Order: sequence, then C-alpha cells, then structure tokens
Amino acid sequence: MRKEQILQWLQTFTDEIERHKDYLTELDAAIGDADHGINMDRGFKKVMSQLPTVADKDIGSILKTVSMTLISSVGGASGPLYGTFFLRASTAVGLKQELTAEDMRGMLQAGLDGVLVRGKAQIGDKTMVDVLSPAVAAFDLAITEGKQIQEAMQQAVASAQEGMKNTIPMLAKKGRASYLGERSVGHQDPGATSCYLMLKSLLASLC
Ligand code: ADP
Ligand code: MG
Repeated sequence: MRKEQILQWLQTFTDEIERHKDYLTELDAAIGDADHGINMDRGFKKVMSQLPTVADKDIGSILKTVSMTLISSVGGASGPLYGTFFLRASTAVGLKQELTAEDMRGMLQAGLDGVLVRGKAQIGDKTMVDVLSPAVAAFDLAITEGKQIQEAMQQAVASAQEGMKNTIPMLAKKGRASYLGERSVGHQDPGATSCYLMLKSLLASLC
C-alpha cells in the first residue's frame, strides 16, 4: 500500500462520513446522545485541512497528524478512541513510504490494541471493538494463508460488516449506550458502523 493510497483512504473515509453523517447521528440518537456523525464529520474535515502540511512526509507522520487532530478536535468517546487507533497505527509503520502485507497487519493490529487498552471494551460489549476485532483477525488469517493485500482486506471488510450487524442484538456494556441497559438491545452501534466505513474506505483505496 503506497502513501498515496493512505491519503486516498483518509479522503474516502472523510467523504463516507459526510455521506453518512445523519445516519450515524440517528444511530447515536437511539442509544446515545445523537452526536456521533457530527463528531466524526467535524474531526475528519479538520484532518483533511491538516493533511497538506504532512502529505510529503512518511506514512507514520501522516497517521500521527490524523491522531493528533482527532484527539484535539473531537470530544466524546470516539475522538480519543479513533485518535488512539491512528496513534498506534502511526507508531507501528514509522518512517515507511509504502506498506507490505506484514506492515499492514502490524498497523491494524496495533490500532486495535490501542482501542482495547484505551477503551477496555471486549467483544460483545457493543462498541467499535465488535467491528475492529473480527476484521483484524480476518485480515491476519488471510495474510497468513498467503492472500494478497486486496483480497485479505476484502475478507476483513466482510467480517467488519458481519460484526457491525452483530451489534444489533447486543446489550451495551461500555460508553453512553450502557446507561440504557436492556433498552440498548435492538439498535446498531454507531461507532461500530463508522469503523465499518473506515475499513470499507481502506479497501476502496486499494482497488
Ligand atoms: P459519545 O458516546 O461520547 O457521545 P460518540 O457518540 O462520538 O461519543 O461515539 C460513540 C461510540 O463510541 C459508540 O457507538 C461506541 O462504538 C464507541 N465507544 C464508546 N465507549 C467505548 C469503549 N470503551 N471502547 C470502544 N468503543 C467505545
Ligand atoms: Mg454520542
């Protein structure tokens, strides 16, 4: 994955969030405080305004700028969690200008680990982790089986989509939705949904 494709990923994700801004906010209205789409849209628009200053640097610097911008401009749970994802991803890839399958495996795993450490959610808690975790596992398995990056990412996105749907019957155990207890059941998690869009955008940038 070349640096240009990383920049394309971030642009595509920003566009996807803008397109799904109201949808993400509606999902958050059902089990949270109706700001997830607004939070993500504000954060990634800010990211896009910052990226030209680092576009000629290495991938690690680009991802670090994404992280810092999100942490400083997005409140709520999702800002620090996405910020941590990109911070750990940035550290994992360092000064590289291009990522191998192994590098991408390390980047995604590091991002997930950061979210797990920061948010302390487990699979089944109805959060971003319910998408990230199966997606990273699917990517990992596909690369171990010798698949190419694009095919591995296709499998990751399929697992992400399944993980997103699986949040519907879950009872929220973390974040604002957990305050609702049983009333959180029957709704798709907004953060899981934006994570699915993030991975779908990553796949699109590889094609
Ligand atoms: P807030 O809940 O502060 O309003 P957002 O609405 O932007 O923040 O984001 C809500 C999303 O954050 C949830 O749908 C969930 O996926 C995610 N989330 C909340 N807490 C955690 C956590 N501890 N670990 C992982 N993800 C979390
Ligand atoms: Mg919210």
